[in-house]
Amino acid sequence: MKKRLAILGSTGSIGQSTLDVVRRQAERFEIVSLTAASSVEALAAQAIEFRPKIVAVANQEAAGRLRALLPAGLRSLVAHGAEGYLEAAAGCGAQVVVSAMVGAAGLLPTLAAVKAGLTVALANKETLVAGGELVMAEAARGGATILPVDSEHSAIFQCLLAGAPEEVARLWLTASGGPFRQLDRQALAKVTPEQALAHPNWSMGPKITVDSATLMNKGLEVIEAHWLFDQPYDKIKVVVHPQSIVHSMVEFVDGNFMAQMGPPDMRLPIALALNHPRRLRAVGPSLDPGKLAALSFEEPDPERFPALGLACQAGRAGKAAPAVLNAANEVAVRRFLAGRLGFLDIASCVEAVLERHPGLPADSIGAILEADRWARAEARAWLDRRGS
Ligand code: NAD
Ligand code: MG
Repeated sequence: MKKRLAILGSTGSIGQSTLDVVRRQAERFEIVSLTAASSVEALAAQAIEFRPKIVAVANQEAAGRLRALLPAGLRSLVAHGAEGYLEAAAGCGAQVVVSAMVGAAGLLPTLAAVKAGLTVALANKETLVAGGELVMAEAARGGATILPVDSEHSAIFQCLLAGAPEEVARLWLTASGGPFRQLDRQALAKVTPEQALAHPNWSMGPKITVDSATLMNKGLEVIEAHWLFDQPYDKIKVVVHPQSIVHSMVEFVDGNFMAQMGPPDMRLPIALALNHPRRLRAVGPSLDPGKLAALSFEEPDPERFPALGLACQAGRAGKAAPAVLNAANEVAVRRFLAGRLGFLDIASCVEAVLERHPGLPADSIGAILEADRWARAEARAWLDRRGS
């Protein structure tokens, strides 16, 4: 029997890599739903190739454009808006939901999959950042399994197999350091979106690529690791490893470290999650350790990359602080990508919004969405005041 997959965010970097895995292991999987925000050309081509039961887009206008691109027999599959996404996640018989939308927009459909007790292959880290407490509680209640797709978390997931939970001393998340690892603050103030989008090791969507350059991505991943692996923040460390070969490590109480290595290719963690609990044949080129010149590790610099510290601080503060951090960051990154905000101001904006955040709760979906809305409005007001 083929596994039935829903792919939320199928036209993005992770979505396309997932479909590439599916093509190479076609005997294993059947696609039941595909979604995108508005890239209807790519989505139409995917729908024609994979014949899902539902394709969902953000709104009616995009749905109209998508229908016009589909053959008559597929037009009735098109759904749109929040309801369309919920149906794509939990209303079309999927067994595994690949959560690969970008941003907090992924929270509601991912939560629906979790509530339905499905297996979620989670790339969309913002879902756990904004709603970790709720999502993990619902997963425990409804029996859903959340499997990491993020390479660091996939690495930790694999390393944890070497010991019992109480034997874990620390989780060590590796960070590439991004394209600006060696720039000083003066130079950082002047970097352009084009420079930020040129990541040295990974090809990814624009938002996560900027987050990787500020190290906010690593901060979001610290929060993601806290929820996924039920570890306190004191036990989650970050180390910069520019080669992106060691994807993360677990330190055990007896002093032994387990590290997971592999080529920097997201198809590996995706295939691992999709085939869980089995490992299947490789989906891409493998790693030749003999060709690795060097692996180096260094401490992250909090002065030049304050976003990492802000995220850890928000994680420790708990309640809605991580949702606030995430929402403010989404707004600031968008302005930076539009060429309207300096690189260092992304973290300044997030910091300013976090400082004003009145300790809102995050114990219900309504509370999380309210905190998200509040933070976006605050971030926009802060940016507008500065003329950004
Ligand atoms: P991307 O920008 O390439 O793709 C995003 C996908 O989500 C697209 O299909 C887009 O149409 C859809 N989308 C965008 N905004 C939406 C909205 N408001 N509502 C519904 N759908 C929307 O992003 P990506 O790089 O594939 O990243 C996706 C997620 O996976 C992010 O949360 C990211 O942090 C995470 N992730 C990505 C990578 C990577 O290598 N790209 C690695 C680890 C984790
Ligand atoms: Mg990652």
